[in-house]
Amino acid sequence: MNSPARHAPNLLFPIVDDCLQIGGMPLTRLAERAGSTPFYAYDRRLITERVAQLRAALPPDIHLHYAIKANPMPAVVQHLAGLVDGFDVASVGELKTVLDTSMPPDNISFAGPGKTETALRQAAAAGIVVNLESEREMEILAQVGASLGLRPKAAVRVNPDFELKSSGMKMGGGPKQFGVDAERVPAMLQRMKDLPVEFYGFHIFSGSQNLRAEAIMEAQRNTFDLARRLSANAPGPVKLLNLGGGFGIPYFPGEQPLDLDAVGEHLAGLMPDARLNFPEAEFVIELGRYLVGEAGIYVSRVIERKVSRGQVFLITDGGLHHHLAASGNFGQVIRKNYPVVVGNRVAPEGAAELASVVGPLCTPLDVLADKMALGHAREGDLIVVLQSGAYGLTASPTVFLGHPAPGEVLV
Ligand SMILES: *Cc1c(COP(=O)(O)O)cnc(C)c1O
Repeated sequence: MNSPARHAPNLLFPIVDDCLQIGGMPLTRLAERAGSTPFYAYDRRLITERVAQLRAALPPDIHLHYAIKANPMPAVVQHLAGLVDGFDVASVGELKTVLDTSMPPDNISFAGPGKTETALRQAAAAGIVVNLESEREMEILAQVGASLGLRPKAAVRVNPDFELKSSGMKMGGGPKQFGVDAERVPAMLQRMKDLPVEFYGFHIFSGSQNLRAEAIMEAQRNTFDLARRLSANAPGPVKLLNLGGGFGIPYFPGEQPLDLDAVGEHLAGLMPDARLNFPEAEFVIELGRYLVGEAGIYVSRVIERKVSRGQVFLITDGGLHHHLAASGNFGQVIRKNYPVVVGNRVAPEGAAELASVVGPLCTPLDVLADKMALGHAREGDLIVVLQSGAYGLTASPTVFLGHPAPGEVLV
C-alpha cells in the first residue's frame, strides 16, 4: 500500500521547543501581543524574501505587480509598496487602499468586470491604467475622461483564445465574463483610434493557483503570440504588456512548490523576441497569492476538547466565518485539509493523535481540519492554519452567525 500523500513541509516558520516562531517570536507571545484570538498574522520578512526570490528568478525587465485582492490589509499593501513595481486593483475600495501608498498612479492598474461610470471616473481622475473589460467600459472611460479634460490610460483585458491548463481557477479561454474575447479586440482597437483615450497595451490573465511550471510557460508563450497578433491593429505602440500570473502555492497533501527557476529561465528565453516585437513595452507579471499566501497564518484557540464516539474534536473560537478557504468552501471540489498544526504543541513525528478542528458555527461545514495527525491539544492551545496569507479574511463570510471579527497583525 502506498503511504498517504503528505503536506509539503513547513520550512518558513521555525519551531523552537515545539512552538512555532512567527516574525522572530514564539506564537504564544504573539498571541499575547495580538490581545485576543482568533487572528491572522503575516510575516513581513517572508513577504520581502518572496519578492527577492522572484527578482532573482525572473528576467530583470519583468516588472512585478501585486494584485491586492489576495490580501488587502493596508499594512501589507504599504509594505509591498516599497518592494514591488506596481499594484493591480479590482474595485474602488482597493483603489483607495493603493492610492494611500507611495505607488505612482502610472504603476497602478484596475481590472474587473462591470466597472461603473463612477468607478471609471475615479480611475480616470486618479491617472491609473484601466484594464478595459468591454467595449462599454471603453466608451464610458472616453466620456468621463473628456468631461474631466483628461486622456485616460486604457489597456484592453483580453479573454484569450487559450487556457492556462491545470489551474485552480480558470479566468480566460472559452466564454468568460472577464475581458474582451480575443476575436473582438481588433474592432475594439479600431474604434479606440477615434476616442480620446491613451492606448496603453494589453492585459492577458488566464488563470490562478497553478503549480505546473510547464502550464505557466505555455500560457506565457501563447500570451506573447496573442499580444503580437493583436498589436497589429493597435492605435499606438504597446506600452504595457501584462502577462498575467497564476503562480500557485502548495496547499494540500501531495502538492509540490512551483518550479520558479524553470518559469524564469523559460521566460528569459522569450524576452529577446518580446523586446523586438514590443520595443516600448513594460512587461508585467501580476501575482497575488504567490507573494503573500505562505507568509500568513490564521490562529484560533481551542475552547473545548470533545470526544464523540471515539473521534476527537478540537472546538475553536475560529472557523469558516474567518477562513472560508480552509473549510474547503472557496473553490474546492473535494474537501482537502490545509496544513494545520497545534502551534504551541507541534507534535514530533509519531507523537501525534488524529483530531478534527472545527469552529463554533452551527453548521457541519465549519471544519478547519478533518481527522489530521496533530499534536495532542488541550483547551487553551493555539491552532494554526498555515498558507493563510491570501484569500483569508476578506474572502470569508465574517458576519455569518454574528461572532466577532478576527484581528490582523503584520509582524
Ligand atoms: C485574482 C487576480 C489576480 C491574482 O491572482 P493570484 O492567483 O492570487 O495570483 C491577478 N490578476 C487578476 C486580474 C485577478 O483577477
